[in-house]
Amino acid sequence: TTFQVSCRAVPLAQGPGALVVFEDVTHLEQAGQMRRDFVANVSHELRTPLTALMGFIETLKGPARNDAAARDRFLGIMESEAGRMNRLVGDLLSLSRVEADERVRPTERMDLGELVESTVHRLAPLAAEAGVHVNMDLPEPFEMTGDSDQLRQVLTNLLENAIKYSGHDSEVTVRVSAPGFEPRVRGQGVTLEVRDSGPGIDPIHLPRLTERFYRVDSHRSREMGGTGLGLAIVKHIVNRHRGRLQIESALGKGSVFKVVLPV
Ligand code: ADP
Repeated sequence: TTFQVSCRAVPLAQGPGALVVFEDVTHLEQAGQMRRDFVANVSHELRTPLTALMGFIETLKGPARNDAAARDRFLGIMESEAGRMNRLVGDLLSLSRVEADERVRPTERMDLGELVESTVHRLAPLAAEAGVHVNMDLPEPFEMTGDSDQLRQVLTNLLENAIKYSGHDSEVTVRVSAPGFEPRVRGQGVTLEVRDSGPGIDPIHLPRLTERFYRVDSHRSREMGGTGLGLAIVKHIVNRHRGRLQIESALGKGSVFKVVLPV
């Protein structure tokens, strides 16, 4: 391990001599490096669609000016590149918002079952388009304290991933297991689980999966419209709720994302 140490001398208030202060600033250096990496990543992610847009604008102004078919095709591509930038900026804003209030405990009373139902309902068109069937396994209405907008975002991100990475004709299950009222199980909290039978993830990737912009297969993620920020946002929201995110997956065996929240 390498440590970064800062050293400064402070003159004594009285008399000759000085106090020499050594301070371990490894964490500051690491935070600085992470911030620089993040800015470099964001710039790269924004520049890719921007470069494509600028290229097509040039083509539309010049060679494709009078070619109606080419123009329509290029406009379609430009629309999807602009959409990608829009999603990225949206996710960056969400990330910075959830980071900013990570220390503030949520106080809202909300029903988790109702939240799951409405979120699955809202994503039904996406699932239908992808040919994925979403099952729900919910207990009775389940009241708890949490930030409903943020927990809806958690479920949306997990479900969107499950839907987009699973193939046609597959099933995704969302399950809420309430802790019941036995003291023994109560301590474990409530579990919100999204299970898919998609391609699965090689376990070597699991420890880094919630890092910003970490992708197992960047080409596939981009093709699917992913920003690489979804799970980082999930992680911060779960932290704010003092919960845990557990990911179980194996190649060819599908994935299970479990959010365990204290109640
Ligand atoms: P992205 O926008 O790329 O989906 P995420 O942060 O949501 O970013 O996920 C990070 C990476 O984790 C994805 O790029 C993908 O490789 C992998 N991943 C996430 N969810 C699943 C899933 N349900 N099945 C397979 N791979 C997944």
